[in-house]
Amino acid sequence: MSASIVHWVDGRKMPVQGSRVADVFNPATGAVSGQVALASAADVDAAVASARRAFPAWADVPPIRRARVMFRFLELLNRHKDELARAITAEHGKVFTDAQGEVARGIDIVEFACGIPQLLKTQFTDQVSTGMDNWTLRQPLGVVAGVTPFNFPVMVPMWMFPVAIAAGNSFVLKPSPIDPTPSLMMAELLKEAGLPDGVFNVVQGDKEAVDALLAHPDVAAVSFVGSTPIAQSIYETGARNGKRVQALGGAKNHMVVMPDADLDVAVDALVGAGYGSAGERCMAISVAVLVGDVADRIMPRLIERTHALKVKNGMELDAEMGPIVHAGAHRRISDYIGVGVEEGAQLLVDGRHFDAASAGAGCERGFWMGGTLFDHVTPEMRIYREEIFGPVLSCVRVPDFASAVELINAHEFGNGVSCFTSDGNVAREFGRRIQVGMVGINVPIPVPMAWHGFGGWKRSLFGDMHAYGEEGVRFYTKQKSIMQRWPSSIEKGAEFAMPIAK
Ligand code: NAD
Repeated sequence: MSASIVHWVDGRKMPVQGSRVADVFNPATGAVSGQVALASAADVDAAVASARRAFPAWADVPPIRRARVMFRFLELLNRHKDELARAITAEHGKVFTDAQGEVARGIDIVEFACGIPQLLKTQFTDQVSTGMDNWTLRQPLGVVAGVTPFNFPVMVPMWMFPVAIAAGNSFVLKPSPIDPTPSLMMAELLKEAGLPDGVFNVVQGDKEAVDALLAHPDVAAVSFVGSTPIAQSIYETGARNGKRVQALGGAKNHMVVMPDADLDVAVDALVGAGYGSAGERCMAISVAVLVGDVADRIMPRLIERTHALKVKNGMELDAEMGPIVHAGAHRRISDYIGVGVEEGAQLLVDGRHFDAASAGAGCERGFWMGGTLFDHVTPEMRIYREEIFGPVLSCVRVPDFASAVELINAHEFGNGVSCFTSDGNVAREFGRRIQVGMVGINVPIPVPMAWHGFGGWKRSLFGDMHAYGEEGVRFYTKQKSIMQRWPSSIEKGAEFAMPIAK
């Protein structure tokens, strides 16, 4: 079988060398929509070689001219954003309006990268010693790679390559084979924007491609976003091979509802952040922490809203939730619901009973599921501890604020969290005490803006630097310090003592 979705190397689609392919599905209908090539080590080598050839000239292009390429890319993205969103919905399944939001949040990072001349400005100290100055430079690393998950096929690559490329690196993207088409659309737009061939490459594939990138001596750094076990292994292997690595992992995000919160607002937030994108977001809320008497007051409303979710083909404009991304994920989520029941959680709404025919014409064989709601979930249960990554909301009841904070701080993940309250002191205390990287106060999905940087704590991030924002610029550049003096200020004679300011 020949692949319809191939690699992008040297500014064009690269003929496929290997014979491995994987089916790509439309999750709404369950139909196969194409075959994606799965790269061999030789394919990866060709992409890295192209990036390596392109690097020296690109690194020498003045930052303002690199920024101009980004400005043209930005313009093209704005022109083609709905095509990108449609491609996301076709292979991922998320509803079109959500896909449009994903593209918009990716575009934010391109706008940030357009400011690269300012971001690369460094520090200069005049006269560190008589006649001598000292300054720092931030220089690009060389060839850098990005390995990205299925759940944001446009936004997550854009957390990486706009900043990396604007900073003067060349880039090899290894997207998820589940929804690979948008990667090629972005490659075409970058070329149209005037990016020199070889600065941005795509290798489609799976573990084999990732292993080849991690072993490749010409790859200086790897940015990874995906599940925690793979993030950890990529961090460890990459570091062992001398690479700079940032590896963002999985999550179990809690939303605390305090008794003084506006419950209408809290219910809206829980259903939107729990079931939006079928819960397949690393910032989705999967645990509601209901404090004091909130559970009894909120539960009837949550049950009603979960039943009322509009689960439909994502191209229907009133759809609130689309299908699950593929059959394997559908099985995994269904199994977790069974585990929750066996563990003794109270299953209030069971998404497994969803009738696929109600999702729209042609959806009978799609990967459909409704929203699931559990109450009386406890910290020992697997459905509490593990990432389900589906439309399953688990409610945990706690007596007070301190128990809510203690519960969340004991969890192995620390990606996002939120607290709904009308008390400023509670909010302040929550922000200070909580051991989580991204915090929302009355904001259910606090994904930081392009100039703030994204990253969790604990087992949600391996490495020191967050994605995009100023830390993104630091990740994709290395610091060099230069000290300089000129002959007329150099004293004659060798100095054997440690030099000091004179
Ligand atoms: P995944 O870990 O299965 O795959 C991520 C990437 O790694 C893909 O490109 C995949 O092809 C590759 N890969 C898969 N198995 C591999 C292996 N054994 N060795 C090397 N590479 C491998 O993740 P996914 O299912 O695509 O995405 C969902 C996961 O990503 C969830 O856990 C979610 O929380 C996480 N995620 C995290 C963030 C974050 O910012 N922390 C953002 C989005 C998604």
